[in-house]
Amino acid sequence: NSARKTPTLKCGRTAQMEIEGGSDSKPILDLHSLDDNLVQKMVYDALVWSSLHGLVVGDRNVQLIVQRSGTVPGVGMVHAPFALLPTVFPENQWKLACEVAPIFNELVDRVSLDGKFLQESLSRTKKVDAFTSRLLDIHSKMLEINKKEEIRLGLHRSDYMLDEKTKLLLQIELNTISTSFPGLGSVVSELHRSLLKNYGEHLGCDVNCTPSNDAANRFSEALAKAWIEYNNPKAVIMVVVQPEERNMGGHAIAVIYFRAGYAPTDYPSEAEWRARLLMEHSSAIKCPSISYHLTGTKKIQQELAKPNVLEKFIDNKEDIAKLRKCFAGLWSLDDADIVDTAIEKPHLFVMKPQREGGGNNIYGDDVREALLRLRKDGKEQNAAYILMQRIFPTDSATFLVRDGSCHKDHAVSELGIYGAYLRNKDKVIVNERSGYLMRTKVSSSNEGGVAAGFAVLDSLYLT
Ligand code: ADP
Ligand code: MG
Ligand code: MG
Repeated sequence: NSARKTPTLKCGRTAQMEIEGGSDSKPILDLHSLDDNLVQKMVYDALVWSSLHGLVVGDRNVQLIVQRSGTVPGVGMVHAPFALLPTVFPENQWKLACEVAPIFNELVDRVSLDGKFLQESLSRTKKVDAFTSRLLDIHSKMLEINKKEEIRLGLHRSDYMLDEKTKLLLQIELNTISTSFPGLGSVVSELHRSLLKNYGEHLGCDVNCTPSNDAANRFSEALAKAWIEYNNPKAVIMVVVQPEERNMGGHAIAVIYFRAGYAPTDYPSEAEWRARLLMEHSSAIKCPSISYHLTGTKKIQQELAKPNVLEKFIDNKEDIAKLRKCFAGLWSLDDADIVDTAIEKPHLFVMKPQREGGGNNIYGDDVREALLRLRKDGKEQNAAYILMQRIFPTDSATFLVRDGSCHKDHAVSELGIYGAYLRNKDKVIVNERSGYLMRTKVSSSNEGGVAAGFAVLDSLYLT
């Protein structure tokens, strides 16, 4: 059993330990050996639990037929896709990810204050990427009028994959706008804790190995605290959502939360850009401000990974070392040597444009093609992309539950750590880790978001 690489669900200390031998090794529960009846029973319980506890989303199938799902509350709901059991994750890596969350929060804040750094780092991207260019225009206008954001609110999520070969936890990206799933992510952890409580004895699992997840509460608390700092009891919190809701009349706005605005399609006309500019001009606390938004771009991630750049923003040497340890290889396309290597071995790289929301990256042979095309078309376009080391996480068998049915597949996981940050002038009011998000996707898919149908919501089982 222990010689087998996959698939494994490692569980808490039970009588099975003797079989494994050695007092350090923890018992391993092979998913293949899980009794089918038990799996079916757990799936059934999990589906009932999901309906009772709001682990649900609007059902696209119903939406197509009656057009009421997603508009009429309580109509046409389906459970969100989830992994039946939490995914095994090493506790020391989890601790590391938690530890750096407040440091990343602080980093975003510091970088956001350096307007020149943001403008210069993105100056060439601006020429070839119309969307980033519009964001930078708003940012320039704010610099021109010397607009100060005294109260700053960030609701972030730093995403990681555990690289199998190096055993390093490497950062995929840092999200500063519309960070998704603090709500459902928290609920999935509860689902898993409930299953482990009920079936722990059969599985040999300990419910305490799944950390509780308070992302939703922490984020709402940070929003509420921002509202308090704004100090106008009559003012409200405005949430910008897709598609064209522009709900701006009547009330003073204390906090603007952008659940939309990260993609070009969120700005179908000039009116949306005018609205974004207007909001940036206003005294409302923006989550995120234009500077926080730009700080979350892939280009800035790549610039921050260059030697001696973190040092500009963070004083503490140990903190710098901790952040750097989780940086994967990141390169500008101006680096001719790395482009040569990537053309030769494209599967070792991911090519990324300045976009959010999944489905925008380039993988495998397409990387080679894209790089060769860019070589022909000239240097300008280079600045639209970055190259990143491809991370290869360990895959393991997972039960994925979608549309009421369960199937087993090989899957890899991405851990996201939420971080909330609130500051008023010199006073840091909130700087904390705020729960987590585990997403698990079938190994055969390059990207696959939860909504796109490849990934499921998951939680952790710490070993
Ligand atoms: P987005 O802002 O669109 O979410 P990401 O950088 O997170 O962009 O990339 C989307 C997905 O692509 C990730 O969730 C992950 O599955 C995959 N991915 C991104 N970078 C890498 C990488 N360096 N190695 C392996 N997979 C990656
Ligand atoms: Mg992102
Ligand atoms: Mg992402």
